[in-house]
Amino acid sequence: MPHYDLHSHSTCSDGLLSPTELVRRAAQRGVDVLALTDHDELAGLGEASEAAREAKVRLVAGAELSVSWRDITLHVLGLSIDPACPVLNEGLAAIRKGRTERARRIAAGLAEAGIPDAYEGAMSFVASESLISRTHFARFLVDTGRVSNMKDVFRRYLVEGKPGHVKHEWASLTQAIDWIHAAGGRAVLAHPGRYKVSVSGLRELLAEFRDLGGDGIEVLSPSHSDAQVDEFARHARIFGLLGSSGSDYHGPGESWADLGDMPSLPAGVEPVWKDW
Ligand code: AMP
Ligand code: MN
Ligand code: MN
Ligand code: MN
Repeated sequence: MPHYDLHSHSTCSDGLLSPTELVRRAAQRGVDVLALTDHDELAGLGEASEAAREAKVRLVAGAELSVSWRDITLHVLGLSIDPACPVLNEGLAAIRKGRTERARRIAAGLAEAGIPDAYEGAMSFVASESLISRTHFARFLVDTGRVSNMKDVFRRYLVEGKPGHVKHEWASLTQAIDWIHAAGGRAVLAHPGRYKVSVSGLRELLAEFRDLGGDGIEVLSPSHSDAQVDEFARHARIFGLLGSSGSDYHGPGESWADLGDMPSLPAGVEPVWKDW
């Protein structure tokens, strides 16, 4: 059976490897089918698909869309999308515009806390001009010696209640699913175990996601414990959702798991790649 890794990032969002380096690493690590799923950005897919041809990896065109649902942020993967789809491209461009405005507000918050020029500092770590994320602020804060590592920097500066955190309105769940479908892709709720929702809130989220046309959930993610993998396998079956698997790889030294590290999907879960 081919080895799938359907969640990864390149320098076109907040990853550390170029699309070419990422694809080559995936090939070396035995991945047969790789999805590049940069946050809100498709710019790396052209380069990745060329590298994939050379490395004999099958590239699945993807993106990880930022969504606001109730008072939390969700990530929805679009898998096997058409990167030329105007509806999806316009939607993502709007999210990226929001990211730039948010980055200005993050920088203002940090300036108030005595850290000047953080926007410019974060931008110096950005490769794809219109895609700035908290990760770039984190790298700036580590680089300037304010925090010693990437784990602490979020906790101290970039999460709710800290100076570099601002409220932000991303796309709606309906919009994200509709844009992904307009591009012919499958909408997959990324790392469902990472969201701060109650047990009943999670059930409401999964029901709403499915009712809006959502196709699957990421059952296997390095942020899930074994118990959560079982739980999401069960949820996939109960809610009639497909299951996906991805390392969410961001680069050497900044990831929980490496490319291709995920085990097989639990029995009884219908894979999102079933008819690819
Ligand atoms: P943003 O979409 O700009 O809010 O940035 C979110 C990104 O920051 C995620 O995709 C992760 O790559 C990274 N991230 C979020 N929380 C943490 C954390 N606690 N430690 C390390 N990286 C994180
Ligand atoms: Mn990220
Ligand atoms: Mn994510
Ligand atoms: Mn991700």
